[in-house]
Amino acid sequence: MGNLIKCKDCNREMSKSAKSCPHCGSRTFWNPWKDPKEYIFAIILLGIIAFLYNFFKSSENDTPESVYEDSYAHERLEKQNESVKSCVKTLGKGVYKNKSLEWKLDSCHASK
Ligand SMILES: [Zn+2]
Repeated sequence: MGNLIKCKDCNREMSKSAKSCPHCGSRTFWNPWKDPKEYIFAIILLGIIAFLYNFFKSSENDTPESVYEDSYAHERLEKQNESVKSCVKTLGKGVYKNKSLEWKLDSCHASK
């Protein structure tokens, strides 16, 4: 019977799967449906996090030219056929791995 835990409120043993302590009624885990206020709070919090995430994500568009060109090269890579993709991958592992993606695309005769 390894599924007994001690209630953190009354310190008596209770089943791990019990939703609340049979002795003192203390809840062992947070149940959002029993706690609508906390549930709403969690949703608002998630909304704020999502908002901040989008905010920082969109501000990333103001990054320097080099990063912008790199993302352009990535988009270009996506359009290539498998042989060009594997060619770029191979170049990325070898002595040319420090070259820019743009350079690798050109070296693999990628289309613009
Ligand atoms: Zn208890």
